[in-house]
Amino acid sequence: MTEQRKFRGNQRRVTAYLGLGSNEGDRVGFIQQAVQFLKDYPQIKVIECSSLYETEPIGDEYTDWFVNAVLIIETELSGEELLDVLRDIEARLTGMNRADAANAPRSKEKRGRVRIIDLDILFFGNEVLETSYLHVPHPRVHRRAFALVPLLEIAPDMVHPSLNKTVAQLHEELPEPEQVLLYGTRRPDERR
Ligand code: AMP
Repeated sequence: MTEQRKFRGNQRRVTAYLGLGSNEGDRVGFIQQAVQFLKDYPQIKVIECSSLYETEPIGDEYTDWFVNAVLIIETELSGEELLDVLRDIEARLTGMNRADAANAPRSKEKRGRVRIIDLDILFFGNEVLETSYLHVPHPRVHRRAFALVPLLEIAPDMVHPSLNKTVAQLHEELPEPEQVLLYGTRRPDERR
């Protein structure tokens, strides 16, 4: 049994770390809606939310800045089931908000990658999961300040299970971190 697994009755619970991001329209609102959807799932308990951060897009000057946050959850779902829930929430939020987002002011004439909402599994307990469509820990978590800075706020001692380094160490070792700025005083888990 891994350290982060807890058994209550027959139910296995895993502490998972989720990354949330949006770079289109009401970015904070979309993240708040995603957190509310996650809270509505009976098999998911939201334990802690980081602050919201505004983050520089990587590798594409035409992509707008993101708002990002990280959540700690407990769940009875498997990694694959959790990914299905995240994909479902992404599809619902994108479907519900596509028209609003299309009317949002454009910050640049030419647009890069647009995401109403992007939900990722960063860590799933200390498990390493490799299937054709799920890679955990997230393959880029250790290289991305937009994930490591919010993690540093709420889980600095979390150990990356394959690199065997804490979030704080990984953050310190980032060679050229993209800009990550604390974004106002609103919270990801504020009710809208
Ligand atoms: P993206 O929209 O860029 O986040 O990529 C989504 C796709 O990445 C999904 O369809 C997943 O199958 C795949 N994927 C692989 N590992 C993960 C992970 N740890 N969290 C979220 N998506 C993942």
